[in-house]
Amino acid sequence: MGLGTGTLGMRLEKAGVVGMITSRNKLSGFANPFAAQNAGGGRGPGGPGGPGGRPSVGASDRGGGPASSLAAAAAGRGGFGGGGAGGAGGWGVIEVFETYNTTAPAVGLTCEDYSLVYRLAENNQKPMVTLDLDAALLGEQPAFNTIAMIKGSEKPDEYVMLSAHFDSWDGSSGATDNGTGTLMAMEAMRILKKAYPNPKRTIMVGHWASEEQGLNGSTAFTEDHPEVMKGLQGLFNQDNGTGRVQSLSSSGLTDIGRHLKQWYTQLPGFFTDSLSANVVSWSFNDVPTGNPGGTDGAVFACFGTPSFGMGAVGWNYGTYTWHTNRDTYDKIVFDDVKHNATLAALMVYLASEDPEFIKRDRSPGTWPANWPANCGKVPRKTRPRY
Ligand SMILES: [Zn+2]
Repeated sequence: MGLGTGTLGMRLEKAGVVGMITSRNKLSGFANPFAAQNAGGGRGPGGPGGPGGRPSVGASDRGGGPASSLAAAAAGRGGFGGGGAGGAGGWGVIEVFETYNTTAPAVGLTCEDYSLVYRLAENNQKPMVTLDLDAALLGEQPAFNTIAMIKGSEKPDEYVMLSAHFDSWDGSSGATDNGTGTLMAMEAMRILKKAYPNPKRTIMVGHWASEEQGLNGSTAFTEDHPEVMKGLQGLFNQDNGTGRVQSLSSSGLTDIGRHLKQWYTQLPGFFTDSLSANVVSWSFNDVPTGNPGGTDGAVFACFGTPSFGMGAVGWNYGTYTWHTNRDTYDKIVFDDVKHNATLAALMVYLASEDPEFIKRDRSPGTWPANWPANCGKVPRKTRPRY
């Protein structure tokens, strides 16, 4: 029932309340990580759910990877929230995060229902709300990544990897965050297995656990598999909703842009013709930009390995589905997911067939301080937040 009571919920629990009813509108209670270019964005005053700030766990599901964010947003793609949208959410959408209570349940009502209860209470009409709740804390539970591979035939110790996180927030089933990324990666693997069963390099897919708590699954993988980090030709990560991927981006290694451009120019015109509705752009930034902790691709950058972001058109990800009660199956645009899986399979194929291994020389130039932010050892046990 993680419905965003934040630190206020903790205080109310300590004060002895038996439960609390909240209605936290989407994007009202914390700094909107997608509104970097939006001066009006940022942290709102806190809804009835309280001012619980977002802990600095890092994960914010932004963009396709460490390099994609600003380029995609600048192109009007991949970013969401759009101009002026910071602080505004979709109709009837409630955010689902930051409930730390362990004894007093927090129940979220949508705005309309909450307002009715509020008005009745204000008018001394003594509304009664009957709740049928069944929840239990299960204690420490194991989390695990789901990994699959097609073994390389010529260079089995070199790897091309697809990446998406498998976990979601608990307000709904997580269809667009990140079910669609997972679907893309699985379908791309199915295509590759059928059309390219004996790849030059080993092709892997990582469905990461515990991304939402701070990129834990992917960080654990990079820590546990130095052989993959050493031989990684490229990682393709997708994590910004069901939209059509419209940008491929990379940064940080001097050699990486050249390779990405080579692969891009071999894509069918369907993806590269500027008049095509399906056109995909590619970009390379000498030094990384954007939010480095946004999604799993960032942790690979800690090892100086090539990481490619797949930035999707935002649709209503930021306003309706991201971390809300509305992130359900019906929001998936399967035509877009099909497009993304086809593109992912093509890029992985091209990266695998590339005669050269991408060199690891780090780009000169002024890198942002604290970039990337998520380097370090991953916690192997849950840390209490408060
Ligand atoms: Zn995500």
